[in-house]
Amino acid sequence: MPTGRPIWYSVCGYHRYHRYLDAFHVPLNPARSDGRIGGGVPSKHDIRLGDVVVSQPFGKYGGVVQHDLGKIVTQGQMRRTGFLNAPPPLLLNAISRVRANHLQGRIDFTRYSAAFHGLPQFDRHAAGPDKLFEATYEHKRGETCESCTKVVIRPTRTGQEVLIHYGTIASGNQVIKDGATRDRISSELGDVLCFEMEGAGLMNSFPCLVIRGICDYADIHKNKKWQGYAAATAASFAKEVLSVIPMPSKFDFTTLSTAEGASFDSRDEEHNATCLENTRTELRCQIAEWADSEHGKCIFWLNGMAGTGKSTIARTVARSFKDNRQLGASFFFKRGEGDRGNATRFFTTIVTNLIMRIPDLAQHVENALRDEPDILDLQ
Ligand SMILES: [Zn+2]
Repeated sequence: MPTGRPIWYSVCGYHRYHRYLDAFHVPLNPARSDGRIGGGVPSKHDIRLGDVVVSQPFGKYGGVVQHDLGKIVTQGQMRRTGFLNAPPPLLLNAISRVRANHLQGRIDFTRYSAAFHGLPQFDRHAAGPDKLFEATYEHKRGETCESCTKVVIRPTRTGQEVLIHYGTIASGNQVIKDGATRDRISSELGDVLCFEMEGAGLMNSFPCLVIRGICDYADIHKNKKWQGYAAATAASFAKEVLSVIPMPSKFDFTTLSTAEGASFDSRDEEHNATCLENTRTELRCQIAEWADSEHGKCIFWLNGMAGTGKSTIARTVARSFKDNRQLGASFFFKRGEGDRGNATRFFTTIVTNLIMRIPDLAQHVENALRDEPDILDLQ
C-alpha cells in the first residue's frame, strides 16, 4: 500500500517524535550562543550578518556536508567521503510550511525575536556596521576592522531586515578564517551558505535540522559583536519552525487492536518467497509506474487464479516499495490465521502502521475517531 504518490518516509516510529523536538532544544540553550551561529558565504547569495541559514537537502547533499572529511585527489582537491543524513520528513515538512507562510506574508519569527528587545547582548545596533571585505583582502591589525579598507559595496537592504536562506551548510572541525578558502570550499561543494562546527557531529546521531544565525563571513575579519544578535535571530526562527509542527495526538494508538504478523516483513512472512530476478518484470514495472504516478488511481487491483503468484508479486512489490521508502503499510491476509483471516482488524492495523511512519497523520486519525466513536466499538 503505497501512498498516492511517493513520499520520503522517516524510518523512525511515532514514539521518536519528541526526539525531534529535543533536537531543537540543544541549540536554544540561552547560556550559549556559539551553538547557534555560523560564518556566512556571501559569494553567490546576498547573505548579511544576522540572517538565518537552514540546512535543507540540495543537490547531492542532505543539508549538511562535512567539508574536511575526504580524500585529497588531483591538484590538491578533496573528494568528500563523509555522507550525512538529511533532516527527517517531520522537520522538512515544517520547513515547507514556514516557507509557504513566508511567501504569503505570514512571518512569525520577527514577533518571536521581540522577546530579545531591550537585552543588550542581543541588540542589533550594539553589533556595529555589517562590513563585508573582499575575499583576498588581509586584516590590517588590532581587534577591530577600523583600519581595514576594501569593503565590498552592497546595495542597502530594503524591506525585511532578516532573510532566511535554505540550502547546504558546511560543517567541519576547524574554524574557517579566510575568505579565499571559504569561497574555494564553497565552490568545490557546489555552493554552500555557511560554515559551522557542530552539525556534522549531530546529523548522523539523531534526526535534526541545523539552523544558524550568521555572525561573520568566515574570513580573517572576525569579530564577536554580531554573535548575540545572530543567535537571537536563529532562535526566533527555530521557534517559528516548532510552532508549525503539529502537536502529538493525545490518543493512545497502541490501544487499537491490530492483527499480528500481517505486515510483509513480519516474522511470519519474512521468509516467504519473492519473485526471482528478471521474472514478472512487465507487471512489476506497471505497478512501479502506478506507484510513481501523481495522478494514478487509488487502487491497483491484481487478480488471478489461486496459485498464480499474486502473493509473491505483492510481497516483492512491498519489499521494493520499502527499499525506496515508498511503503506506507502492508497487510497480508491468510486463510484460517485468526485476525489475518478476515478484515476485522485490517483498517486498525493499516492505520497504526501508517502513523508509525507518518506521525503527522495521528491528529487526522484522532479527529476521525472523535467524530465517529463507533469505529472503536467495531474492533
Ligand atoms: Zn579586518
